[in-house]
Amino acid sequence: MINFQYHSPRSLEEAFELLDRHGDDAQVMAGGTALVLQMKQRLSQPGHVVGLGRIPGLSEIQWDAVQARIGSMTTHQQIETNPLVKDRLPLLASAFRQASTPRIRSMATLGGGLAHGDPNQDPPPALIALGAQAVVNSSAGERVVPVEDLFVDYFETDLRPGEIMTNIIIPALPAGSDGVYLKFLPRTADDYATVSVAAVVSKGEDDTCRDIRIVLGAVGVTPIRAIEAESVLRGKPLNEKNIHDCGEAVRDAVDPLDDFRGSSSYKRDMAEVFTRRAVQQAALASHQV
Ligand SMILES: Cc1cc2nc3c(=O)[nH]c(=O)nc-3n(C[C@H](O)[C@H](O)[C@H](O)COP(=O)(O)OP(=O)(O)OC[C@H]3O[C@@H](n4cnc5c(N)ncnc54)[C@H](O)[C@@H]3O)c2cc1C
Repeated sequence: MINFQYHSPRSLEEAFELLDRHGDDAQVMAGGTALVLQMKQRLSQPGHVVGLGRIPGLSEIQWDAVQARIGSMTTHQQIETNPLVKDRLPLLASAFRQASTPRIRSMATLGGGLAHGDPNQDPPPALIALGAQAVVNSSAGERVVPVEDLFVDYFETDLRPGEIMTNIIIPALPAGSDGVYLKFLPRTADDYATVSVAAVVSKGEDDTCRDIRIVLGAVGVTPIRAIEAESVLRGKPLNEKNIHDCGEAVRDAVDPLDDFRGSSSYKRDMAEVFTRRAVQQAALASHQV
């Protein structure tokens, strides 16, 4: 028997008050897909669970000319099926669509996934490649954290006690840019990735690479931005040789764990292969400006 008190605040202020009052003994719940498992396994034993489901305004997808703002309680399914996300950020829709099963995607939320800090999840590499930022609120005010800086260690994030992630801001893709998300999973279709890669490529004149962002998932204790591999291509022609060298440079960026999805060396090989494929596909999808 697990004993805890469940709270359903109707406003963020009420939620902050509960988190401040109960301190380390309180934990936020969004979709519950990760937290309930952790509680069943006694990995997490909060005396107070603060559900965010009744707080209005946390599940909206809003756009303006320069960015999308997606509420932290928006589910994976709402994001993958949103017509504007599919049209303007297909990379993001694709990453959410490839996470787990429809049953999980109908419950798991954007903010819950990020706060969970699992390096094997699908959305984080795509969000980092797109330059997304997390808006985090508490009774002390608001701060904005690049999603790239949110992940600090294995299942550990930069979120502080009493904080609630409320929104994620995702800049629109610059002109001439496009991206892809590839998930390699040789086991069942609902599994976590063995290796995943998100790549965003901006094309310049004569098919050169004006800018590039490459982020890998499931090959380290956090999602990994492959900065060195990016610099191999930035400013250079997007030809076979340069893309080959870029893939090779990823080998030094990743630090995969051996597990039942593959050995560390196999995952390193697959990181190279899938980086090359992701960059090739993103380069084909982007248009010269
Ligand atoms: C069987 C299974 C398979 C899965 N497969 C995949 C997969 O292949 N790919 C993939 O990407 N995902 C997968 N997932 C989903 C993923 O691992 C997480 O379970 C999910 O993203 C968590 O979202 P949630 O809204 O349910 O979070 P919750 O379980 O509610 O919370 C997770 C953590 O985040 C904290 N939290 C939640 N919301 C906030 C917030 N707004 N602010 C601050 N802290 C918050 C909670 O306190 C908790 O610590 C799978 C899940 C399951 C159960």
